[in-house]
Amino acid sequence: MSIIEEVLAANEGYAGSFNLGHLPMPPRRKLAVVACMDARLTIEPMLGLKTGEAHIIRNAGGIVTEDVLRSLIISHYLLGTEEFMIVNHTDCGMMTFKDEELRKKLGQTTATPAVGLSFQTFGDVEENVRQQIQTVWSHPRIPKSILVRGFIFDVKTGRLKEVRAEKASAA
Ligand SMILES: [Zn+2]
Repeated sequence: MSIIEEVLAANEGYAGSFNLGHLPMPPRRKLAVVACMDARLTIEPMLGLKTGEAHIIRNAGGIVTEDVLRSLIISHYLLGTEEFMIVNHTDCGMMTFKDEELRKKLGQTTATPAVGLSFQTFGDVEENVRQQIQTVWSHPRIPKSILVRGFIFDVKTGRLKEVRAEKASAA
């Protein structure tokens, strides 16, 4: 049995006792979280969030990409979120390889050359969080009134540590 078959069977049980069909679309706690896709991060229990309370936007590294910005803009303007939280973590896979290595690997295993592909790997998780905060702050479509804070989740202890970024004086 494939894993997808297994999870479909689990969904039967979930749907059997599902009672959240009344929830409205806008996140009740007006929070959007940008987090790494790492399987050891389960965002809702980590932050005490329930279904319907926050937007969770995830990708490899918890990077504020163009597509994450697209989601944040929709999250704020159409669905009313007012606080954005960026969550990276210790032992992130994005620190274990370099863009160039993966490009080379892809070049060897597929017929299509991987030139120009960016995976946005990083070497320093604190610096990476700061950079993601700056990317949100500096975006012309994200209002300055939105509270943006960044954190590193420790995969060994389950604890979040805040990373503070300096607001550029020109902003
Ligand atoms: Zn990660």
